[in-house]
Amino acid sequence: MWKTLSPWLKDFMGLFLPRRCSACDMGLMPFEESLCLACLEDLPLTRFHHDPANPVERLFWGKLQLTSASAFLFFRRKGMVQQILHRLKYKNDRAVGLELGRLMALELMASDRFNTVEVALPVPLHKGKERQRGFNQSRVLIEGMQREWAIESPIGLLVRAKATNSQTRKGRWERWTNVKEAFTITDPEALRNKHVLLIDDVVTTGATLEGCVHALARIPGIRISIFTAACA
Ligand SMILES: [Zn+2]
Repeated sequence: MWKTLSPWLKDFMGLFLPRRCSACDMGLMPFEESLCLACLEDLPLTRFHHDPANPVERLFWGKLQLTSASAFLFFRRKGMVQQILHRLKYKNDRAVGLELGRLMALELMASDRFNTVEVALPVPLHKGKERQRGFNQSRVLIEGMQREWAIESPIGLLVRAKATNSQTRKGRWERWTNVKEAFTITDPEALRNKHVLLIDDVVTTGATLEGCVHALARIPGIRISIFTAACA
């Protein structure tokens, strides 16, 4: 019924409903969580999780040994997904991050390419960025995932190594080497023989994720998969 209401009427009713949709800013009904039903229905799903040759997985072909890789949504400039991620990262809208994570978990739990995951790890932010923002958005996504899915996510296991020197004057190759060596695992034993899922908000070139995988890949028996909220 709600979906068939005119936008005007919906917005009018929104005056009495202080919660607003994080994507379209219309008032939310009591049963809606962060996103209205219309936006939920319009989410630009990639459905990549079914496809072992999907564009996200192809980014890493010939570079990394991955079990599976996928992205939940298509990212478009000025689109709904950009708005949602902007709210999460810059407007402290953790609720929409939790809801997005919950939806991400439901998708992966139904996929036999991902449903053996035991541990999820967020791609760590630069220390300065995390201090400024107060949280890591990928950690929020994982907390949302854990509302549906019994996966572990130890804190502080995958961390950024200390920056040795400024990257600004370096050439491309050196910069790349730097990204590769930028991550450390504090307790490799905790991940031995585990299926580990790396979580990030958006994947573009995949360079940061590749750096994380390089750090993880030395652990005996580990299987590594990647899932991002969106792909650009
Ligand atoms: Zn909406």
